[in-house]
Amino acid sequence: LAPPPDADQVVQAALDQNESAWPPSPAAVAAATHAVTNGHLYPDADANILRAAISSTHGIAAERIVCSAGSMELISALVCTYAGRGDEVLSSDYAYAFFRAATALNGATYVAAPERNFHVDVDALLDAVTEKTRLVFVANPGNPTGTHLPSRELMRLRAALPADCLLVIDEAYGEFAQDTALENAKLGAREDVVILRTFSKAYGLAGLRVGWSVFPPSVAVEIRKALNPSNLTAPGQAAAAAAVRDQAYMRNVVAETAVQRAAFIMRLQDCGLSVSDSHTNFVLVDLGDEPSAVRINAALRDVGIFCRPMGLYGLPAHLRITIGTASAMAQTADRLARHVRAEENR
Ligand SMILES: *Cc1c(COP(=O)(O)O)cnc(C)c1O
Repeated sequence: LAPPPDADQVVQAALDQNESAWPPSPAAVAAATHAVTNGHLYPDADANILRAAISSTHGIAAERIVCSAGSMELISALVCTYAGRGDEVLSSDYAYAFFRAATALNGATYVAAPERNFHVDVDALLDAVTEKTRLVFVANPGNPTGTHLPSRELMRLRAALPADCLLVIDEAYGEFAQDTALENAKLGAREDVVILRTFSKAYGLAGLRVGWSVFPPSVAVEIRKALNPSNLTAPGQAAAAAAVRDQAYMRNVVAETAVQRAAFIMRLQDCGLSVSDSHTNFVLVDLGDEPSAVRINAALRDVGIFCRPMGLYGLPAHLRITIGTASAMAQTADRLARHVRAEENR
């Protein structure tokens, strides 16, 4: 085997899945490990301990909280329950791709409203509503854009949507943002709004598959019917309950991510790259044109730096790059600067 290029300097940074650069809280690891010793027992189908921990941390009634095997399971269950053939599911141009996939899997029609400068545009969403619209998905902050919509805009959207249309606010990156629907008592208490959260990003539990959500109680009853009754594993429940009780650990991860993100964005801007405003653990970088993005992505992969190409989102000139450790980001920025210069001199 020929040695890989730059074999002496292979970085090995998986910056393509928005995983946390840090392992879970030690309390979460200990709780999951203990739960494995009782692995012969079925998990609690109602995730009572986990829901109680979320309830007391966030001040949300436990009856409004639904847990799931990652929030993707809830996205599927929502579409499966509320939208079928002939119905429309509405989101926006650069919305999370799984909204579209879940819609297609259930035979419903996906409608994407235009965004403005990589921000969700409430007026464009409202213009795209028809009598067939059953669900409206807004990821806030967005993925892959990273941008954030103030909750007053979400309230304006909700107020203008038809009453029989459910608004789903996916806050997978809510811990990295300020002004979230979860913190907004008016949005969270409504009977026509669902808020999705996950332990996969800021809490670093992506491998354990735990999502949670705030549901109107009447919708929670319906959605539970579409979920596998034993959807969460016992170690996943135990880890997530311990993780949510350890807010200090999660807050440190969020703070350190913000420090690394700011430094990385500064480096990218120094080489003249444009980066969209990020309220998440990743950035969306514009590399100018598709051939440059393809070449730069390939060159980064050759040295073990994995970024996410954005062709699937109709953004072939962009890469989405997860914020990793300080050393991973410094090396990624160095390489990017070098490749961007090489592109300019082509
Ligand atoms: C990562 C992500 C999710 C899914 O996370 P799970 O691991 O299934 O909990 C959901 N929505 C968005 C926008 C995401 O980026």
